[in-house]
Amino acid sequence: MKIFYHSYELKPLGDLNAVTASRPRPGALLKIEWPNGKTGYADLHPWPELGDEALDAQLLRLKSLKLTPLSEQSIWFAKRDATARAENRSLWMTGVQLKNNETINDVTRLEIGFLDEVVNRGFTTVKVKCGRDLEAEAKLVNSIAGRQDLFVRMDFNGVGNAATFEKFMKLVNRESDGRIEYVEDPFAYDHEAWREVRKRWKIAIDFELARSPWMKGDRPMADVLVLKPARMDVDASVAKALAFGMNVTVTSSMDHAIGALHAHAVAQELKKKNDLSVLTAGCMTFRQYQMDAFSARVPLQGPFIGKPPGLGVGFDDLFQGLPWRAVTDL
Ligand code: MG
Repeated sequence: MKIFYHSYELKPLGDLNAVTASRPRPGALLKIEWPNGKTGYADLHPWPELGDEALDAQLLRLKSLKLTPLSEQSIWFAKRDATARAENRSLWMTGVQLKNNETINDVTRLEIGFLDEVVNRGFTTVKVKCGRDLEAEAKLVNSIAGRQDLFVRMDFNGVGNAATFEKFMKLVNRESDGRIEYVEDPFAYDHEAWREVRKRWKIAIDFELARSPWMKGDRPMADVLVLKPARMDVDASVAKALAFGMNVTVTSSMDHAIGALHAHAVAQELKKKNDLSVLTAGCMTFRQYQMDAFSARVPLQGPFIGKPPGLGVGFDDLFQGLPWRAVTDL
């Protein structure tokens, strides 16, 4: 197996969430050539803030064919891509209608008319990143819910604690509850405290999985699994979600458009299989960065991501034109 990489930087258009500043984010596209002649492409986008090894260390490991949980998924994506390319097909599934949510990263910078525009573009779900300004966030949640044409997801990224969250809950009107789809990682995982939250709102679990009984094979105190194919074994996670009766939201990992498209293709396949409830996806995160040659050509149709041009995950011409470097030269 030969591994090549192309380093890139994603430039955030604003602060991405409560734990990350708006610094450029390094990552790498990978090209993997297998001995059988197949070639596949994927993204490798670490989040050192969240415990991942930095990009350089990840690439150095690849040089000696050692994997991290993250690069293992990159290679899994690349293999899916290689298989599709060898079979002369796109990873995109036609006939699977899967919407994505719109995301609001900074409630204090929301422009007037933004929500109207979101609805006009066809979105039905908005994800609000919370945990920086509880009053402004609760106010926004109330106003979105009050419209009656959008559902709200709130993501706290595990910041704060049960007490601050309780304060937030009081700021959200009871009348808003019917439009609240779920709250994601309300604060650090706490079985009993999450049980209390769940009496009012459904909970989605994302990064807090690591602190939950999920790791030991038990059901966490949550209704929805946030499945990030870039970060976790898809088959094993889906099997657990099914066993626990949890619904699934597939999301990208705030990564390169290629990572997001790979995640979205997985979401389409899961939705087509139809054995578990696949909710509105969250795979449009690449729009939170300045456009690059790839993201500029992703065919967006409101909340839908259309088929990228080319085979596999798409963009054959762009991949072929990149100045790839072998990891063995590191
Ligand atoms: Mg999250």
